[in-house]
Amino acid sequence: MNSYLEKVLSEVRVKNNNEPEFIQAVDEVLATLEPVVNKHPEYENIALLERFVEPERLISFRVPYVNDEGKTIVHRGYRVQFSSLIGPYKGGLRFHPSVNQSIMKFLGFEQIFKNALTGLPIGGGKGGSDFDPKGKSDGEIMRFCQSFMTELQRHIGQDVDVPAGDIGVGEREIGYLFGQYKRIRDVYEGGVLTGKGLTYGGSLARKEATGFGLIYFMREMLNANGGINLNGKTVTISGAGNVAIYACQKALEYGANVVAMSDSKGCIYDKYGIDLDLIKQIKEVERGRISDYLKVHSDAEYFEAESEDSPIWNIKTDIALPCATQNEVTLNSAKKLVANGVIAIGEGANMPCTKEATEYFLKNSVLVAPAKAANAGGVATSAIEMSQNSMRYYLTFDEVDSKLNNIMINIFLSCKKACEEYNLGNNYVAGANIAAFRKLAKAMKAQGIV
Ligand code: NDP
Repeated sequence: MNSYLEKVLSEVRVKNNNEPEFIQAVDEVLATLEPVVNKHPEYENIALLERFVEPERLISFRVPYVNDEGKTIVHRGYRVQFSSLIGPYKGGLRFHPSVNQSIMKFLGFEQIFKNALTGLPIGGGKGGSDFDPKGKSDGEIMRFCQSFMTELQRHIGQDVDVPAGDIGVGEREIGYLFGQYKRIRDVYEGGVLTGKGLTYGGSLARKEATGFGLIYFMREMLNANGGINLNGKTVTISGAGNVAIYACQKALEYGANVVAMSDSKGCIYDKYGIDLDLIKQIKEVERGRISDYLKVHSDAEYFEAESEDSPIWNIKTDIALPCATQNEVTLNSAKKLVANGVIAIGEGANMPCTKEATEYFLKNSVLVAPAKAANAGGVATSAIEMSQNSMRYYLTFDEVDSKLNNIMINIFLSCKKACEEYNLGNNYVAGANIAAFRKLAKAMKAQGIV
């Protein structure tokens, strides 16, 4: 590795030594930037990379609320405003017990690159809380969201920072957050949050966008590598949340055979093909467990998650779409997938493959659609939602979907172009990092030392 990159990486390791996910995300990016940094020795003098890896602002705050038993519970809230180089901070809110500063910073860091790839004017940020919405009543969720927004509202605004959903934050939570923002600020600022409900400023196709976008990217990547088609391919998808469900829907539309999905407790395998309407009923309506699938399809199989190696990756598949969470595809799982003949991985979740797993896939000529590029459809459509709010105007579902499709095609083309320019073959992981970094570095140089 180039000595400047090495120096920055070792400083990041020292300064953030209790933040493994953040170090992993930075390591994965810096490891691919050597050819660009070699061409620009001037970056070192202006500490360009040091500024890249340090958030502009990191906010941590107390979030107390009263549960249904009358007990006061205190959680920790975060907002990482990582980079406003090319637009207002933009990135989701995650409510999950695993949330901590490391996870917030890794997600915020990834978001800068992803947002740059969309071609839209959005900076990078992320936020959330270690609150677990699972098993909570609607009243508890509402009170928690109101308390969270009571603090967050000081730091956001449609031209400042625009949060959205992520794990544990869907349309219900965004509704409560928006209501509280409006109440405190006394302004109807539609563009301050995205992923809103359709009756008060949400965009058609936002709910579907990340999953659909993932499949659009996969379609382009397969087509560019020997004209492979999704039709008839076997697909497994981890997770059964927003990203997984709509990736499944689009894959089915393209004639793929989706045979497995999962949640944090285990996975289901249905050799006759996943019944997506049933998954939607279980997950979107009943908020139940994926194992409930067997109550209707008793001939499907259920495998419990017993270790860090999710059972879903033992299932033979052509295409694997990790759409649950970070580091869910370990080196062990990668070896199983390769041994079973996988041809492509599409990262719907953020950083779902460990660095070792990604390297193993690339070494074994498996195509990898990297998260920063492949799941950027969600945030791109959020930016389209912001535009609609500013215009006081709504686009139809087909108009938004067609913009999303074009954006995903363009993202794939910029990854491919970077691969061609730097002789990277079809290593789109490096291609995506380089394409985004070049744009951001140019903006950083132009804006002086800030
Ligand atoms: P949801 O909360 O809707 O769904 C998350 C799914 O992943 C659930 O099935 C959940 O299972 C499972 N999951 C969560 N944590 C774990 C874990 N530690 N181990 C195993 N499974 C887990 O979230 P989204 O679908 O919105 O997000 C999924 C991923 O996609 C995340 O990485 C997110 O950052 C990324 N992403 C989301 C975007 C969006 O627009 N929503 C945009 C871009 C990226 P269970 O219910 O049992 O917890």
